Amino acid sequence: MAQSTDAQEKCDGNCSTCPSAQKEGCDSPQKGLPPKVKIDVKHVILVLSGKGGVGKTTVSVNLASALANHGKNVGILDLDIHGPNIPKMVGAEGQKLMVMGNKIEPIHITGNLSVVSMEFLLPDADTPVIWRGPMKMSAIKQFLEDVNWGSLDYLVVDLPPGTGDEALTIVQLAPNIKGAVIVTTPQEVSTMDSKKAAKFIEKLDIPVIGVIENMSGFICPDCGKEIDIFGKGGGKKAAEELGVPYLGAIPIDPTMREAGDEGRPFINLHANSPAWKAIDAVMENLVKIVEG
Ligand SMILES: [Zn+2]
Repeated sequence: MAQSTDAQEKCDGNCSTCPSAQKEGCDSPQKGLPPKVKIDVKHVILVLSGKGGVGKTTVSVNLASALANHGKNVGILDLDIHGPNIPKMVGAEGQKLMVMGNKIEPIHITGNLSVVSMEFLLPDADTPVIWRGPMKMSAIKQFLEDVNWGSLDYLVVDLPPGTGDEALTIVQLAPNIKGAVIVTTPQEVSTMDSKKAAKFIEKLDIPVIGVIENMSGFICPDCGKEIDIFGKGGGKKAAEELGVPYLGAIPIDPTMREAGDEGRPFINLHANSPAWKAIDAVMENLVKIVEG
């Protein structure tokens, strides 16, 4: 699987000041790709799934929260406007983005966790928006370049399920892309979808960081016991077959959904629950791979 080179990562599209421009390592400007945007971020992580309904958005939000809880400066960029509503999940529903000076201020969930969603651009939550390709691209560019993200350790990008131009645009524009995380469920059919997602990631020329098995067992709200409803192991199997790391499993916890409905990231409410511990473990595996 192709890894992005240092030359590509540091490319600002300006060959006249770039030492790599004369060498073979540099191919971005020659290929006519748009230059990378200027955003102060160490690690950009894409979250995607082969299909919808695997809880990808919940995983994105909780993963970002877990990173923030461990002291990282984290941004969430929500590009999945047809998925579950991130602004609602983080208690920012109905908020509008404010412009301060010449920068857009993201919605601050905590001191070191902020979010920007395409949803914030919609006139109201019930208005369907048909994004044309170029519109989408310029919105994504603005979200990277014109948002006052501050100095980020991680930018977690929640992508629409399947294969879309959002992913392509992010890969073209964002610097320091460390790769993509594939969210799957334990069922066999989901393994097939994960393979499709992995193929897509490979085409984007970025690494697969690993596979997360979501909805892996169910935590009984009465007794806290874990019940296997969809079986287990699909994520691990998918990771093995794809030859990529397995990041871990996250069980279904009904209190997680409630937290989402109440607009508070789950992890901030239930620090001792089995699901939180699972998210934390997944986050730590991801950090090990990304930061080495
Ligand atoms: Zn029970």
